[in-house]
Amino acid sequence: MATTYQIAVLAGDGIGPEIMAVTLDILAAAGRPSDVVFEYTSGLIGGSAYEATGHPLPPEILDLCRKSDAVLLGAVGGFQWDTLPSHLRPEQALLGLRSGLGLFANLRPARIFPQLVGASSLKPEVVEGVDLLVVRELTGGIYFGQPKGIFADEQGQRRGVNTMVYSEAEVERIGRVAFEAARLRRKQLCSVDKANVLEVSQLWRSVITRLADDYPDVELTHLYVDNAAMQLIRWPKQFDVIVTGNLFGDILSDEAAMLTGSIGMLPSASLGAAGPGVFEPVHGSAPDIAGQDKANPIAQVLSAAMMARYGCQQPEVADRMERAVLRVLEQGYRTGDIMAPGMTAVGCTGMGKALLTALD
Ligand code: NAD
Repeated sequence: MATTYQIAVLAGDGIGPEIMAVTLDILAAAGRPSDVVFEYTSGLIGGSAYEATGHPLPPEILDLCRKSDAVLLGAVGGFQWDTLPSHLRPEQALLGLRSGLGLFANLRPARIFPQLVGASSLKPEVVEGVDLLVVRELTGGIYFGQPKGIFADEQGQRRGVNTMVYSEAEVERIGRVAFEAARLRRKQLCSVDKANVLEVSQLWRSVITRLADDYPDVELTHLYVDNAAMQLIRWPKQFDVIVTGNLFGDILSDEAAMLTGSIGMLPSASLGAAGPGVFEPVHGSAPDIAGQDKANPIAQVLSAAMMARYGCQQPEVADRMERAVLRVLEQGYRTGDIMAPGMTAVGCTGMGKALLTALD
C-alpha cells in the first residue's frame, strides 16, 4: 500500500511558481518507485497572498500548513511590495510561519558539487569535497531577547539595546536536533559560541557538552565564532555539522553558502519539535528574472529532497532526487546562474525535463 503525505505547497512570488512547478513533478516521480505519494494542496503566500486577501499570510494558509505533513515553500517578495507597512510586507509571512509552526531549528547544507567547483571564489583544492550542514537556532537569542529598543537616557542621549539570552531548554532542543542530524551524516558536531566573552555562550557550551553523553557515537568539538568564521574559509572540509545560535548562525550559514558559489543551488529546512517543517530554497524571489524561464530550480528541488528526508523520513526518495541533480550537472546542463564554457544552456523548464529524465 502506498504511503501518502499531505504537502502544503506555497509557491509564493517572483520565480517561486516556476521553480515550484518543476519541483512538484520531480518529487512525484521520485516517490513512485518507493510507493510514496505526495498529495499537494496549494496556497498563496507573500505578495501574491497580499494582493488576493490583503494579508501576506492569511490565517487559512497557516491552518493548511498546520494540518499538513510538511510545507514546501518557494520564495516571497518583490519591488512592488517594498513600500508596504512592515506588518504587510511579504517577508512578514516567513516570520509568521516560523512562529505559527514553532520552527526553532534551521538546517542549511552547503555542499560543493564536483561539477561546480569552479563557481566558488575559493581555490578548488580548498572547496573540493565540502559537504557541511549548519544548524542554526531560529527563534531565540539576540533577535528576540528583551529588553530591546532605542531608549533615551537622562541626558537625552539615545542608546540602542538588544539582549542575547538563551534558556537551558532552548539550547537543549537545538542541540538535540544537531546531534540527531550528525548521526545521519558523518557523526561530527562542532558547536560554535563566544564562551570566552559571553555568559550566554558559557551556558550554551555547558548544555551542549552535557548532551554529548547521550550521543556517544557523535564526536563533539567547540569553536569560538571568530575562529569558526576563519576556519570556514581556510579549511571548510573539516566540518560536518555546525550548531550555533541565531546571530552567529545567520552569519555563518551565509558564509558557508558562498563556499558553493551559487545561490540557485542551496536548499534549507526549518523544523519544530513536532508538526510540519518548512522546506525552502535559500535564495529569494529573484524578481529580476521572474517569468522569463531563466531561474535555476535546483535549490527548490533539493529543498523537496530535504523535505523527503527530514519531513517525511523517506531517505530513498531524497537520495533519488539528489542523484538526479548530480547526473544533470554531470551531463553538462546549466541554467544561466551556473553557466560555464562548453556547457549546455537550459532554462527552468529545460532543467526540469533533464532532471525528470535523470531520475532512476
Ligand atoms: P534573490 O535571492 O531573490 O536574488 C539575488 C540574485 O540571485 C538575483 O540576481 C537573482 O536573479 C539571483 N537568483 C536568485 N535565485 C536564483 C535562482 N534560483 N536561479 C537563478 N538566479 C537566481 O535576493 P534579492 O534580489 O535580494 O531579493 C529579491 C526579493 O526576494 C526581495 O523582495 C527579498 O525580500 C526577497 N527574499 C525572499 C527570501 C525568501 O523568500 N526566503 C529570501 C531572500 C530574499
